[in-house]
Amino acid sequence: MAKSYDVVVIGGGPGGYAAAIKAAQLGMKTACIDMYINKDGNPALGGTCANVGCIPSKALLDSSWKYHEAKEGFAIHGIEAKTVKMNVPEMIKRKDGIVKKQTDGVAMLLKANGVDWLQGRGKLLSGKQVEFTPHEGDAETLDAGNVILAAGSEPISLPMAPLHEDMVVANAGALEFTEVPKKLGVIGAGIIGLELGSVWSRLGSEVVVIEAMDNFLPMVDRQVGKELLKNLKAQNIDVQLSARVTGTKIEKNKVKVEYSNADGDQSLVVDKLIVAVGRRPYTEDLFSADSGVNLDERGFIFVNHSCATEVPGVYAIGDIVRGPALAHKATEEGVMVAEIIAGHHTAINYDCIPSVIYTHPEVAWVGVTEEQIKSSGDAYKTGTFAFMANGRAAAANETAGFVKVIADEETDRVLGVHIVGPQASEIIMQAVIAMEFGASTEDLQMMVFAHPGLSEVLHEACLDVDGKAIHSAKRKRKK
Ligand code: FAD
Ligand code: AMP
Repeated sequence: MAKSYDVVVIGGGPGGYAAAIKAAQLGMKTACIDMYINKDGNPALGGTCANVGCIPSKALLDSSWKYHEAKEGFAIHGIEAKTVKMNVPEMIKRKDGIVKKQTDGVAMLLKANGVDWLQGRGKLLSGKQVEFTPHEGDAETLDAGNVILAAGSEPISLPMAPLHEDMVVANAGALEFTEVPKKLGVIGAGIIGLELGSVWSRLGSEVVVIEAMDNFLPMVDRQVGKELLKNLKAQNIDVQLSARVTGTKIEKNKVKVEYSNADGDQSLVVDKLIVAVGRRPYTEDLFSADSGVNLDERGFIFVNHSCATEVPGVYAIGDIVRGPALAHKATEEGVMVAEIIAGHHTAINYDCIPSVIYTHPEVAWVGVTEEQIKSSGDAYKTGTFAFMANGRAAAANETAGFVKVIADEETDRVLGVHIVGPQASEIIMQAVIAMEFGASTEDLQMMVFAHPGLSEVLHEACLDVDGKAIHSAKRKRKK
């Protein structure tokens, strides 16, 4: 007889494992099928995020930033660090340790919550049955009351830039270089390309980023994108826009990258090349043709606002469905779906999902950009304030960037907050909380912010919406 579960989750990334834990916490008999095998050859939970995404990339960003600071940033504080040396294998080992702790932690949580971790491949069949094929042994069929598809995404490959050993790599390979490449090429100036390019640039690589579009980071508020680009340039990261890669060749242990821009055909020789041209939903062999699940026109699993597919009792969450490819979005969808299955009424506010780029300075935003609201035709007002005029930023020698607030002209409600600057990834959460509670800029103007703090820049940007910023030399007050 087939084993039966209240909930079977396919995929153990931040979407799937959170859904499984929540479902079990709500009293449902739950299994989580995951097929990932890590670089040591062992099954590991946590998906892209914990194994080859968010966590390892941030580990390397933190290590490389410390090295860069020791080399370039200490002197201004009077600290002499003359023999700073980088041991890349040690840095990678530290990163691997962090990944192991995270993935083992997820396994421990599933166990503690009574979730069965099934190691192998899952496939949705018709009638909410799931075929489970373990890494070793025969396939079995599970009966599921509900199924949550959480298979995540995979890197998009470029036929003209095929991956090659450790020389032409996607995100996973870019986290494993054993030495600092003298010259590094990155195809794609998206979030992943800029973060991974930053890691190796801080360690001494000469980095060239080749981006097909003329518009840098089109999803980011233009003013913020401009400021980041200026800062990346100052760090010697050469971002070439309107440049499309047309081919790559391996020549004498180097990679020759051919691309075209407004001046015609160009080429560039690099030691390593990272291909970071986006990710696509991973739906390979995930459901049978008669399962009733459909894809949308962009290849995502078609779901409604509540992540329900067209088959009652079958849901899909995370990178495999529409919306931003972000770990926290996947997690919240997983939690929401488990609660819906348990009969709770719940929903996600998709207008309040923060995004972060962990470059230096960091970029973080939530809500509408100025370009979006302008094109909507709605009346709006903005306030900006620079970190340059903030005492805490000055004390930390981190004065690049600003906070920009966008509010409804009539109601004063905060509609978007855009930050480029120190700790942007943390400050943005204050904006998320404010927006979730429907705050106006006046609400934030009237709150008391701790001094000296970087968050005071958010406060002053809200004050600036009405021309009331205190630490501003602008003499004309709007009101
Ligand atoms: P995934 O994490 O991709 O997990 C899916 C899991 O399902 C995998 O383990 C996969 O092996 C398994 N699977 C797939 N098909 C099957 C099947 N048929 N049977 C069994 N198992 C299956 N996001 C952020 O929010 N912040 C960041 O800082 C950030 N940094 C990133 C850095 C990099 C370099 C990359 C590549 C991504 C980054 N992301 C970041 C994105 C983030 O990793 C993803 O949005 C997130 O992992 C999506 O979660 P998920 O659960 O949908 O899928
Ligand atoms: P993202 O999807 O945000 O990770 O960004 C990937 C980036 O890669 C996008 O900005 C694309 O424009 C860019 N891109 C895709 N194909 C190419 C190519 N052949 N040459 C250069 N850039 C590319």
